[in-house]
Amino acid sequence: VHQRPRQIQIYFSDTGGGHRASALSLEAALKKLYGSQVSVTLVDFIRQAMPWPLSQAPETYQTLGHFPSVYKRAWDYDQESETWRDTTSYKMMWSYCRESVLTYLQDAALDLDLIISVHPLIHHVVIEALEELSQGAEATREDLRLPVVTVVTDLGSAHLSWFDPRCDMLFVPSQEIYQAAIRRGAPKRKIHLCGLPLREGFWSADPVTPEQKRRLQEQLGLRPTERPEVVLLMGGGEGFGKLLDVACAIGDTLIGLGYGQLVVVCGRNEEVRKALSERRWMPRRFGEWLFEPLILGFVTNVDQYMTAADCLVTKAGPGSIAESMIKGLPCLLTAFVPGQEEGNISYVTENGAGAYVSDQEPDLVAAKIEEWLKDPPALEKMSENARRLAQPGAALEISRRMCDSLLDLGVELAEVHAGSFGTTWRDQLL
Ligand code: UDP
Repeated sequence: VHQRPRQIQIYFSDTGGGHRASALSLEAALKKLYGSQVSVTLVDFIRQAMPWPLSQAPETYQTLGHFPSVYKRAWDYDQESETWRDTTSYKMMWSYCRESVLTYLQDAALDLDLIISVHPLIHHVVIEALEELSQGAEATREDLRLPVVTVVTDLGSAHLSWFDPRCDMLFVPSQEIYQAAIRRGAPKRKIHLCGLPLREGFWSADPVTPEQKRRLQEQLGLRPTERPEVVLLMGGGEGFGKLLDVACAIGDTLIGLGYGQLVVVCGRNEEVRKALSERRWMPRRFGEWLFEPLILGFVTNVDQYMTAADCLVTKAGPGSIAESMIKGLPCLLTAFVPGQEEGNISYVTENGAGAYVSDQEPDLVAAKIEEWLKDPPALEKMSENARRLAQPGAALEISRRMCDSLLDLGVELAEVHAGSFGTTWRDQLL
């Protein structure tokens, strides 16, 4: 009988906001389901275990956001290969970080029971290193072959580095990624289609009442309103894309319209936050109505802003899209990280949950928003379509399945186990 809590490490990296958000959601779900039976630690594995300059990946990702064509080339570069291990990129990366990863895992893995990777550049090197440690003379424990689980945090398209057939379980968020995993040689029995794990504020897809929504709008510093008019603008964790230009265009359009409210979440993009805070909107007053945009930096209550809003304008980040589906928020996508986020556009548009207008033309983005605000039934229809894609139970379901299969743990909370994994939870394939 296991007395000590099972030691679980979740490996992520701050390349964008999505990997950390998924790691946090799994940590919360594991603690909710298993309480003191588990001890969960989050590790920015790229920073902690990889040598310089690989350890600078979070900063590099920020910079690459400004050079989409370079990113696209890097993303495409290896896609022709069958597996990530076959690629020159991977071989170079492994030979370069091997020693450092071995050193890290030699200590870290000793007392571990489970490793979860939510980042495509991590699980291959971890599996490689664990195999080497368990065979090598330096093995300090009989079997270092710890279970390694991958949770894919992309939505509509995924780089081949996500798929290592050797991992013990592979969780995917959509049909598209399920098919990609099969194409990349992941054994079917290991693949689980459960949705994207999101933070606790997104574990229920039940809509709030109009009264609750108005109360929340007031709490957040918005004007409570009955008609759909609150536009939420985001650019992922880093505030990518032409946030400033789009915010200005939408603001000017709302001023022309004479109604509407704008919330801009700039994430870690301090430059845009400052520029928008200092902008003089002309004219701010329209009769009795005063245009007062809410300009925010990195916020931790995105779920509340999404609940209070009527539509979302964002780059095609998987996290933001999956979150807005749960909140029934129509999405106007305006940019994407080349390669990696292209499939997210069709995921939204083909399901009737939003549209795509490039932020290279901020005025067209603003015109689309004006069109939406003037047509509440169309917004309502997109909102219904969005809710159909919602998978609020993902974090809990992924946690339950992996602990059940790999750690032989029973859920502590009977009522959660009894089926509150979200009413819209659908396991479309399995
Ligand atoms: N996010 C947040 N606070 C902010 C901005 C973004 O918590 O101020 C979250 C957002 O809700 C989402 C994630 O960061 O969960 C962004 O993930 P996404 O996949 O959309 O884009 P990425 O930043 O990973 O490129």
